[in-house]
Amino acid sequence: MRNEMRLEFDSISANEAFARVTVAAFMTQMNPSMEEVADVKTAVSEAVTNAIIHGYLGEVHKIVITGEIEDDWLRITVEDKGTGIADIEKAMEPLYTTRPELERSGMGFLFMEAFMDEVQVESEPGKGTAVHMKKRIKSQEA
Ligand code: ATP
Ligand code: MG
Repeated sequence: MRNEMRLEFDSISANEAFARVTVAAFMTQMNPSMEEVADVKTAVSEAVTNAIIHGYLGEVHKIVITGEIEDDWLRITVEDKGTGIADIEKAMEPLYTTRPELERSGMGFLFMEAFMDEVQVESEPGKGTAVHMKKRIKSQEA
């Protein structure tokens, strides 16, 4: 089975909940456990928050989430056309943040990696960032 979706919305913090609930609704057809849903919601939240704060620096532009279900794999991409990341490896280090003054702790990518099976970041300064995440969902008995 294969199923794709695409969601585009403004980079407003009120849309963080909208984004994670929408992705959760999309994955319900996979019969996930509560824990798997919670994991994906956390990862989506972190990526969307990053797009809003770091990608668009609080300005309002579009964030695009694409989702794909293929057999028992869920793939989610969160994309912005914002500032981009110069050193991706460094940005993904635990506790690394460029915004300590905003009380950011540099834990976002760590959470994404902890809760998903795979996280890949594609980014170019001035062009934007795409965070690709994958998780295998072990379907529950009905
Ligand atoms: P926290 O997530 O704990 O609030 P944080 O957002 O700084 O803190 P991460 O989510 O791990 O920590 O991100 C690390 C760094 O990567 C950020 O400080 C920022 O410099 C950069 N970054 C992450 N996402 C983006 C993005 N979409 N666009 C531009 N820079 C980004
Ligand atoms: Mg973050």
